[in-house]
Amino acid sequence: MALSERIITKAIIDRFFHKFLDYTEVDVAVVGGGPSGLVASCYLAEAGRKVAVFERKLSIGGGMWGGGMMFNEIVVQEEAKGLLDRFGVRTVEYEKGYYTADAVESVVSICARAMKAGVKIFNCMTVEDVVVREGRVAGLVIAWTPVEMTGLHVDPLTIMAGTVIDSTGHDTEVLRVIERKADVRLETPTGKVMGERSMCAEIAEKQTLENTREICPGVYVAGMSANAAYGGPRMGPIFGGMLLSGKKAAEMILGERER
Ligand SMILES: Cc1cc2nc3c(=O)[nH]c(=O)nc-3n(C[C@H](O)[C@H](O)[C@H](O)COP(=O)(O)OP(=O)(O)OC[C@H]3O[C@@H](n4cnc5c(N)ncnc54)[C@H](O)[C@@H]3O)c2cc1C
Repeated sequence: MALSERIITKAIIDRFFHKFLDYTEVDVAVVGGGPSGLVASCYLAEAGRKVAVFERKLSIGGGMWGGGMMFNEIVVQEEAKGLLDRFGVRTVEYEKGYYTADAVESVVSICARAMKAGVKIFNCMTVEDVVVREGRVAGLVIAWTPVEMTGLHVDPLTIMAGTVIDSTGHDTEVLRVIERKADVRLETPTGKVMGERSMCAEIAEKQTLENTREICPGVYVAGMSANAAYGGPRMGPIFGGMLLSGKKAAEMILGERER
């Protein structure tokens, strides 16, 4: 049978647009497909929620591919080892309480499980704004990343969401736009994004988890974004806090955990 370019083109357009249409309204919209966002999305989808991840880049995984300084191994502490086990990521004990895993295996395993649980990933899409209804964030304004990169004068589209997770990493992009444009106060001591502080792994790992929470009506913050929002220190290339933060955000949204 001769291959038809027309059918190949039709198949891609048809399948993508059905998927996209179906996800114009979701239970949870996750902004940023780094470790915290992927873990959160997986737990939520496994609990039956309709979840979309919007990722600016072509690839999913955020800062995890490169381990530390592009040495593609990650370190997790005792508390997070079970989470990697659950995702089928192989770990090796380095010293008591410190485990390493291959960074690439970590990303692909977590991503594969999330997708098989039903998470839909929309890559190459940048979240540039939020929709606010009655003091609550009710959706996202999205654009193709190349439109943002090239500065084309093109209007974005909108996705409605019951809950949004800001897992955009250091830049806290969803919170920054809320701070700048929406009349919604962030639940931080200053009411604003406080900004990340210098390195202290011990404190940072604890605070990342503590600071994972609903930061304003309709928005949870997870991963490095949680750290930066509350002025926590950075922690260096240990990823346990990111993974556990994603799990905690999901549990809070599911009502399984309060703090
Ligand atoms: C400057 C820098 C410093 C770092 N310092 C540390 C450190 O101190 N400790 C540490 O553990 N790790 C550090 N990292 C590595 C890495 O960021 C984190 O470890 C880890 O990957 C954070 O996980 P995360 O899930 O919070 O977010 P990330 O892995 O950062 O993933 C965030 C994802 O969100 C996407 N995104 C961002 N904004 C948008 C948007 N508007 N729309 C759609 N997608 C968006 C990004 O493309 C990215 O894929 C650093 C990275 C950088 C670049």
